[in-house]
Amino acid sequence: MNLIILDRDGVINYDSDDYIKSEEEWEAIPGSLDAIARLNRAGYRIVVATNQSGLASGKFTYADLHAIHRKMHTHLGQYGGSIEAIFFCPHAPEDDCSCRKPKPGMLHEISRRLRKPLYKSIFIGDKISDVQAALSVKAKPILVKTGKGKDTLASKDLPKEVPIYNDLASATDALLNTE
Ligand SMILES: [Mg+2]
Ligand SMILES: [Zn+2]
Repeated sequence: MNLIILDRDGVINYDSDDYIKSEEEWEAIPGSLDAIARLNRAGYRIVVATNQSGLASGKFTYADLHAIHRKMHTHLGQYGGSIEAIFFCPHAPEDDCSCRKPKPGMLHEISRRLRKPLYKSIFIGDKISDVQAALSVKAKPILVKTGKGKDTLASKDLPKEVPIYNDLASATDALLNTE
């Protein structure tokens, strides 16, 4: 079963420039939860890899983050979908950790924990740092235009070969039609 790694903010749920700090602020992008359920049914394992520097800066607590993720799991469950694991980087950019995307640490950790090679996996994100993290571990990057995706499209750093879709739902349509 192939692996799809998803960024969270701007891919599954709406992003905010002031962070998603509480479960009240977490709101799914239309079609995203159904898309995850469809990918599950097609046999994909789904995990999340998300930078959460708001933990380091005290914008929210681990308890807040876990409440947000409980809400995400609960809402996803209503569509019959499941996310196998959520990997997050709790560090600030200045911490210079190895896990904050575009660094590949979180993706290596996913590979280790799930015992899956990354070269067959897909990484769907909305930022150039998602694309760069994917490419650095030879995963296949996909960009969505939700979240910061439109800004990323304007970036000169975006490699030409990266597939671009409107949102997770349309990326899923394409993945399931081309199997
Ligand atoms: Mg994002
Ligand atoms: Zn980190």
